[in-house]
Amino acid sequence: MVFDLMNPEELIRPEGFSCSCGRQHRAEIRFLRIAPGALSEVTKALSVLGCSRPMVVCGPHGYEAAGKTVCSLLEAGGIAYSLHRLDEENGERIKPSEHAAGSLLLGYDQKCDMILGVGSGVINDLCKVLCTAAKVPCMIVATAPSMDGYASDSASVEIGSIKYSLKEKMPEAILCDTQILAKAPQKMIRAGMGDILAKYTSLIDWKISHIVTGECYCDLAADLVRDSLRRTVAVADGVRESREETVLAITEGLVLSGIGITFAGCSHPASGLEHYFSHCWEMMQLEKGKDSELHGIQVSIGMLLTLKIIEYLKTICPVMEHAEAAAGRFDEAVWEKNIRRVFPKAADGILEIEKQTRKNDRAGRLERAAIAIAHWDEILSLFQTELPSYEETKALMRRIGMPVTPREIGLTNREVIDAFVCSRDIRDKYLLSSLIWDIGYMEETTAMLKDVLYAETKSES
Ligand SMILES: [Zn+2]
Ligand SMILES: [Zn+2]
Repeated sequence: MVFDLMNPEELIRPEGFSCSCGRQHRAEIRFLRIAPGALSEVTKALSVLGCSRPMVVCGPHGYEAAGKTVCSLLEAGGIAYSLHRLDEENGERIKPSEHAAGSLLLGYDQKCDMILGVGSGVINDLCKVLCTAAKVPCMIVATAPSMDGYASDSASVEIGSIKYSLKEKMPEAILCDTQILAKAPQKMIRAGMGDILAKYTSLIDWKISHIVTGECYCDLAADLVRDSLRRTVAVADGVRESREETVLAITEGLVLSGIGITFAGCSHPASGLEHYFSHCWEMMQLEKGKDSELHGIQVSIGMLLTLKIIEYLKTICPVMEHAEAAAGRFDEAVWEKNIRRVFPKAADGILEIEKQTRKNDRAGRLERAAIAIAHWDEILSLFQTELPSYEETKALMRRIGMPVTPREIGLTNREVIDAFVCSRDIRDKYLLSSLIWDIGYMEETTAMLKDVLYAETKSES
């Protein structure tokens, strides 16, 4: 059975697939349509879920883009519903915060038997939280192909000034009408393209973690993500005109990423170091009470930085003496001070992760370094065969109007370096930066990255 020749709608068959990785893979989605005019199937999706009274949740943009049509389709089908509109306050965009989640919970209509979210990232996250709390199924009508969270069970939320990734119920029905999605703002389409491009490095990151830590790996889930990346890049030039075939490829890729995550049982096929650059930047902005750039835009810049880092790693020849020397220089107090400087509010939580994982312990570190060094040829061949070059990827992104440097999205060189150094600390996940730290090349890689950033700054001014 070949996953990469299947379309997303075939992948959700209820019996699932038995895979060569030894597991039975099943997506928890019961209805999926990615096509022009898919919105007209909203009442059909409802009956597949066995639900009769949805609570429609949307923001102002989602209401205009598709919410209105959803409501009239429900009315035409004789289906009662309640409508809960989240409004932007003081011109600020809706956030996945306690405030918005609280508003939804208080406004929850007990007569409803499902949640029908109409929107993109934030509405999707909030609806996952609500449907988990209310113990009802959730359907999502996508309004922008901007991120890969539609077919995923994780919700990104802000509690206090800290960003959390919560495990929630997954939407059981997803409708992606490409005619609606193609009308999304250009920036949202570019962001979706960015979240797809990020898969170049997330797939490498995952494989490395598998080699070094034995994290479970599934070739078929990787193929699924890799194949949709290839198909999307082939039509990337259509991003600028919001061409429908490009929007379709991006949307399929985003949904497939979510399905890949479900099959793999971890987020690693779709999120590696490039995503952690973005997570760190978001946390830094939250600490300062500022908004971040769109997720997909940030992760694509994280991906370019990761490609640069990989080009550097291709030139080194790691040995145990070097890893041991770096382990000898490691100072826990200095490390902790740095975390507290970069993330004043989130620091305690981050330090707690270290107490549980002990990734900084010398013995474990050197054990992982020894495995990585023993497998360096294999890692090198991943770098050489699976990735496009930094320059060609940057040129592609430029061509379709995407920003390509951290400065273009308002990030300072300091924030880039801090994100790289702290990426291995903010959650319990083995990343390319964890490997670099283990083999003792953190200082050298950071110095290289600084040179690249300062050269870019100079050439711009
Ligand atoms: Zn993403
Ligand atoms: Zn598998």
